[in-house]
Amino acid sequence: MSMKILILPGDYIGPEILAEAVKVLDAFKAQGEPLEWRFAHLGGAAVDAEGHPYPPSTKQAAHAADAILLGSVGGPKYDALPRELRPERGLLAVRKDLNLFANLRPARVFDELADSSSLKKEVIAGLDILILRELTGDIYFGQPRGRRVNAEGHDEGFDTMHYSRPEVARIARVAFEAARKRNRRLCSVDKENVLETSRFWREVMVEVSAEYPDVELSHMYVDNAAMQLLKRPKQFDVIVTGNIFGDILSDEAAMLAGSIGMLPSASLDANNKGMYEPIHGSAPDIAGQDKANPLATILSVAMMFKYSFDRADLSDRIEAAVRKVLQQGHRTGDIAMQGEKIIGTREMGDAVVKALG
Ligand code: NAD
Repeated sequence: MSMKILILPGDYIGPEILAEAVKVLDAFKAQGEPLEWRFAHLGGAAVDAEGHPYPPSTKQAAHAADAILLGSVGGPKYDALPRELRPERGLLAVRKDLNLFANLRPARVFDELADSSSLKKEVIAGLDILILRELTGDIYFGQPRGRRVNAEGHDEGFDTMHYSRPEVARIARVAFEAARKRNRRLCSVDKENVLETSRFWREVMVEVSAEYPDVELSHMYVDNAAMQLLKRPKQFDVIVTGNIFGDILSDEAAMLAGSIGMLPSASLDANNKGMYEPIHGSAPDIAGQDKANPLATILSVAMMFKYSFDRADLSDRIEAAVRKVLQQGHRTGDIAMQGEKIIGTREMGDAVVKALG
């Protein structure tokens, strides 16, 4: 069965880093893997070409694909556009259109790069955790919200936190399934001691856990989780949490790993269709200079094979190749220590393809 991929290079360094990811796809295709891909526009590039950040042609292609690879969108060229034409609108639109409610962010420290974290090497060496954030609900989208005058006559701002049973159950299932593909330990993070929404979240997590007796479920308050991620991050395997807590914890976990140029992410729907992208932005400051690290994007391809195509074999080969190039000492500027030789985006992509074998 063919694997149909839509590639959305996006803006600034987006096309440069995706060109390296395509080299990996080319290599697998040459070895007989049934891969097909096509390109479309998203973000600023889509505004330039078609007048909208998520144009109908891209929408159609996104629905037809099994998985999407995205570079990054946005940048100074587009900052003055009206709100509805801003590149990030395109990103939000595709997530919403495809119902990509589960955001997966692994935080992994390759031993070769353990010195670039701001934490002690022994705390983070060998770290490999996965943070799963619910992406379409919670206080970020809850109604009512707005401004009003309260009972004491004061102006106030207010938002509403809520999660429904289906919303919690579906993210729970993605989390338990992800834990099954890893070390079978899932920690659900909430604020159950204070929030009604969290009490409900925890109840549903426990209910769904009955379907996954092989996965160990634990619970942690979000304030403690924020501390534990810094103190003893290796205690975790998979963390699942709501939108607002996940927003904060996933950025915290990203910093454990040191460089932003190394971290992939996935956003999945209920059928494992997904959009895969590096967590970093379009890096306008280094665009067009062959300086961007393509490894976060290449590791996003590895996630795609694992989660959308159930091809852990291809995913493992990519991850092993990345590890090998790091062991061989290949470094782009963002991950080089002082005095280390720096290579460019294209050379790094070529080194990964060579290491794939
Ligand atoms: P950024 O992640 O683009 O860059 C932050 C810093 O990290 C820069 O110094 C950059 O050079 C560096 N960097 C980022 N990726 C790198 C890579 N692969 N290799 C080497 N260095 C890298 O964040 P920013 O500067 O705040 O944002 C720039 C633009 O990207 C903005 O328009 C922002 O809205 C957009 N953005 C897009 C996404 C996305 O597409 N998902 C995410 C974040 C930011």
